[in-house]
Amino acid sequence: MGKRINNIPEAISVAFNQKVYEQKRNGQDVITLSLGEAFFDIPQYSFDHLDLEKGYHYTDSQGVPELREKIANYYNSLFGCSVSADENILVSAGSKIIIYMCLLAAIDPGDEVIIIEPAWLSYEHQIRLAGGDVKFIPIDDSMGNIRSYITDKTRLIILNNPNNPAGKVYTKDQLIDLHKICSQNNILLLVDEAYSDFVEPGQFHSIGSLFPDFESVIAVNSLSKTMGISGWRIGYVLAKPEFIQELLVLNQHLVTCAPTILQLYLAEHFNEIHTATYPQAQKINAKRKKVETLLSEAGIETAEGSSTFYIFLNLENYTDDAYALADQLLKNHNIAMVPGSAYGQSTKSYLRMSIGVESIERISIAINVLKNILANGEYYT
Ligand code: PMP
Repeated sequence: MGKRINNIPEAISVAFNQKVYEQKRNGQDVITLSLGEAFFDIPQYSFDHLDLEKGYHYTDSQGVPELREKIANYYNSLFGCSVSADENILVSAGSKIIIYMCLLAAIDPGDEVIIIEPAWLSYEHQIRLAGGDVKFIPIDDSMGNIRSYITDKTRLIILNNPNNPAGKVYTKDQLIDLHKICSQNNILLLVDEAYSDFVEPGQFHSIGSLFPDFESVIAVNSLSKTMGISGWRIGYVLAKPEFIQELLVLNQHLVTCAPTILQLYLAEHFNEIHTATYPQAQKINAKRKKVETLLSEAGIETAEGSSTFYIFLNLENYTDDAYALADQLLKNHNIAMVPGSAYGQSTKSYLRMSIGVESIERISIAINVLKNILANGEYYT
């Protein structure tokens, strides 16, 4: 067996959700605060009028042009970008593989990539798979300190805006400052904007709107979260034409194309679906505020964040490692949350709560159970 995956653990969040699916299959009613998505009411259209024959086959590896047009229009009209469907966009089977392709194209073995904790768990392992070394900025270190993590091997910084698992939104000034540091040091800035629709209007600044020529920046996004269609595996990247061409080569060898029929369907119905899902994504912010109030009433602290369906619970006053707590919450109380160790060494005492699929009433029950467990000192180690 090859050694490449020897030190790559399974994705903790996916593994936890696997246990949730098992408990549910066994007839248990699990309060599911572990899923990385929100469930939306999505309008459904017939596939009958689509060109099924065309849909059976491989398609343009850069993505069906009409879908790229819709994506370009979404970014240009909603976020003030000026991307070209032909030159700046590539569509593939989810943003996960796209981020990996960006790493393959951007770094050489031994190069360093900086990620900011709490960081979405696949960044670290994708960087390692691509032969890179990871430099972590711990949760309590400020972005202003970023220069101290840069070495002459640093090639890329990954930022998740807004971020999973805390919902932190970066300001325009923070993005501009970070870009300045990157360009001074010949570093690429990859911004993962997968949760773009969950930010209140005016607060989200796509990196593509700030740097329209995409010099030293890459934006990655996906329809998984914004439209609530994670199972359809449609993601995309915005970058300068030369980089898109490099990604195209990788996409041709690794994926070929995202499912053709789904691209055709989405090209046809993009606007109607988005018109239905965008308000639902925005509504999550109000739900989030209610949950934050419940948490604060229960005396549970949270990490800085104002957007997305994720809230990152800070339990450092109770435990150094919340893994056992997450495990027992699931086994003994049928409450699923992801332990903070999935998002970095500095966030082991946290739990990620996702409010995308449960009602306020059920979230409230879970918070009360957690409050009592913490008060009783159970499962701290
Ligand atoms: N980026 C972030 C921050 C995510 O949370 C996820 C999914 N959990 C992805 C990328 C990957 O999404 P997909 O492959 O479905 O586009």
